[in-house]
Order: sequence, then C-alpha cells, then structure tokens
Amino acid sequence: PHPDLRNDPVPATATLKALDLAHHLHPFTDHGELRQEGGARVIASAQGCHLTDTDGQRLLDGMGGLWCVNIGYGRRELAEVAARQMNELPYYNSFFKTTMPETVLLAEELAALTPEGLNRVFFSNSGSEANDTNIRIARSYWQKRGEPQRTVIVSRKLAYHGSTIAAASLTGLESMHDIPGVPIPDIVHAPAPFWWANGGDLSADEFGIEAARGLEETIRAVGPERVAAFIGEPVQGAGGVIVPPATYWAEVQRICRKYGILLIVDEVICGFGRTGRWFGSQTFDIAPDIMTIAKGMSSGYLPISASVVHDAVAEVVFDAPGRFPHGYTYSGHPVAAAVARENIAIMKREGIVDYVGDDIGPYFQERLATLLDHPLVGEVRGVGLMAAVELTRDKTGRAPVEPVGSMATPVRNACFENGLVTRAVRDCLVFSPPLVITRAEVDELVAILRRSIDQAL
Ligand code: PMP
Repeated sequence: PHPDLRNDPVPATATLKALDLAHHLHPFTDHGELRQEGGARVIASAQGCHLTDTDGQRLLDGMGGLWCVNIGYGRRELAEVAARQMNELPYYNSFFKTTMPETVLLAEELAALTPEGLNRVFFSNSGSEANDTNIRIARSYWQKRGEPQRTVIVSRKLAYHGSTIAAASLTGLESMHDIPGVPIPDIVHAPAPFWWANGGDLSADEFGIEAARGLEETIRAVGPERVAAFIGEPVQGAGGVIVPPATYWAEVQRICRKYGILLIVDEVICGFGRTGRWFGSQTFDIAPDIMTIAKGMSSGYLPISASVVHDAVAEVVFDAPGRFPHGYTYSGHPVAAAVARENIAIMKREGIVDYVGDDIGPYFQERLATLLDHPLVGEVRGVGLMAAVELTRDKTGRAPVEPVGSMATPVRNACFENGLVTRAVRDCLVFSPPLVITRAEVDELVAILRRSIDQAL
C-alpha cells in the first residue's frame, strides 16, 4: 500500500503518523480520538530527562516513560553491555536444567538488594507476567501446605497490577474490567487507602487504620481459610499515586499475619529507588513474602521482571518434589539480565537511590507543594520521585470533579503543548520522572505545570 515509503530510511512525520493510524493498534488508546487529533506524536530520540519528537520539539519527560526510565535516557553503558551480550549469547532458556551467567549473577544481585529473606528469584518479562506468576506461586504454596482451598487473592480498588487476564483481574480500576471475563473468579478487591477521596472527616492516620480494617472485612467476608494472599503496591501508582497514611501498612501486615495470609508486594513502580530507598518495602517498613519487580530494574531499556520469593515460601513451592509447571520463553533472558545488572551497577556507582532519598526527592516534593497556593490545587501528595497533584473546585469539601477528568485532561494536554509529559488520572496529574532529574529540571517541570493549569482552566 505504501511502496514509496519502504525504501525511505527516515519517512517524514506525516507519513509515519498516517502509517501508524493505518496499522498500529495502541494500548489504552481511543483510536477515534487519535485519528481526530491527527495521529500520534512520534518520539524520535531521548537524552537524560528529555524526549525529542520528529518535529524537533523537546519534552521534559515527567513520567520517565511509563514510570520506568530510572537512570534516564541515553546511557551508552547499557547499549554496550547489550551489544556485548548479544554477540556472546543472544538467547538461551533456563527451562531444562540450564542457566546463563548473566542470569545467575542478576538473581544473586537481587537477593542481596531486596529485604531480608527474599533470596529466590523467578524471572518474567513484564510486571503483568510476574504477577500472574505470583498468583500461581501463592496457590501452589497452599496446595503443597495441604490447604488447597486457599485460592482467593485479595487485591484493592484502584490497584494496578497489569493487563493480562489474571493481572487485569487483580487490577482494581473499573475501566480495566470493561471487557467481559475479567475479573476471573477468586479475586476480590478491598478498599484503597485513598484519604483525599474517601477519608471524610477522619484524620489521615485514623483513615489509614480504617482502610486496613476494610481489608480485614474483605478477608472475613470471603472466609480467611480461603484466602491465599493479599497483593498491594506500597504506593498505588497508576491509580493516582495514592500514598497510604503512615498507619496503614503496619495494620495491613498485622492482619495478614493474623490470618496467615501471604503478602505479595508489587514493587513494579516503587522498586529501584523511586521512593528514596531501593524498595518501597523499605520506605514503608513492609516485610513481603513475594515481591514483584520490573520497570526500574532495567530502567526500561529491555523488558525484564521478576518475582522475588522469600526462602520460607520457596522451600515449600520450589524445593518440594516435582516441578513447578510455569515459565516463559524469555524468563531470565541473558541480554535483558546483563542490561539490568549494568543498570543496577550504575545506580550504585552514582548513588542514585540516596540522591532521591536525601536530595532531589525532598526538593521535588517541596517544589510541587508550592502549587498548593493555587485555587484549583487541592492536594499534592508523593514520596521520593513519585507524586500526584490533585485538581479540585472544592478544596475543603474534596468533592469529586464532574465530569471526571474535566480538569486534569485539558491541563495534561496543555503540559504536552508546553513541553512537559505528564499523565492525567481522573483529576490528578501524576509524575514519575527519571531519578537523575536535576533541580533546574524540577523547577522547569513545576513552572510548566503551573502555567498549564492557568492556561487550561
Ligand atoms: N504492577 C504495577 C504496580 C504497575 O505499575 C504495572 C505497570 N504500570 C504493572 C504491574 C504491569 O506491568 P507491565 O505493564 O510491565 O505488565
């Protein structure tokens, strides 16, 4: 259909947009809207915290891609490591009693980095796949412990755990359940610890306890003897950077222990420095039985994820006789593993986690909080380098914006026009910039956001 283009090494932007509309099906996209707006923006290159599109516009990437480009764009070391590994061994699998050096060394590195007791690593390629894996590990655990009726996984409203059938079922965003068949059976959703929307007259600390008790009610409604695991993000990310009250996680852990329920902590966003420590579990003092990691593990340069499993769980599931009937062609991919190792080495070498915890994270939160003097900004919440700016016409009553999205969506579009990538979730703007963002870039981000709110509303 476009024979003239095939020989053109760099087709013009208009051509790319047309071909994209004709042939490329985008995730989470209204294709009618995309067509009306003239097609997708074509991102051509990136360096540090900035993207460049094919029209030459520079954009500050306030989202670090999709919450994942932790060490920033343009790191030659990762490209070189990938090229070297491609030449040495581009692929092999770990199914039938084989392994690869980079994969082994990454597993060992992850065991050392993650909290106490998490020493066994099962590799997948995406957060969704790792969470599917976790469901099977948790159910297998109870089966082998002689309680096969423990199959229910408790997740939460506003959770995001992925997009496969099982992970979308764990996800607690209603729009993710629009396509029939999701949620699958034996997945239930407890309340989210979302003070702005649901805290009413309670203080944040009181509400944290109440939200955790909502989990207990959910467990009791199902019957504790049927519950295999609870899964939660330390900070709910895609649900709108919902930072739980300080009281929440301790109470959740008390409840999980009381009923003997496994705790799966989804660190896909929070892991690898995002909250100012290596893992959100450290920031919020959580002791996981299983941890999901992805995204920042390779800074998104190649797809790789993992379930990091506590010794006590691994002994039951993986050290028992018989095999664990689960895995992916690319589990432990040697090139992705090599890139992840180099990414972690860079984070260590450059002290990036401490930079987030002690320097740029607090600065980012403080600068964003200056927006609170704006009549349409209700709350600024966040930790480390993740944050949400909640827009409202009702600062004190905290009534939801109607129609939903009518404030944040135009602001998000204005930000794009003004050179800043952010994302609208309901009526908040969310941020998750590369962890190497500078103070000047934080200032730029906050200035563009303020200007965009004023232009759009
Ligand atoms: N868990 C969390 C907390 C996430 O934020 C995401 C992705 N945003 C996922 C899981 C799913 O990851 P993936 O898109 O790689 O499947």
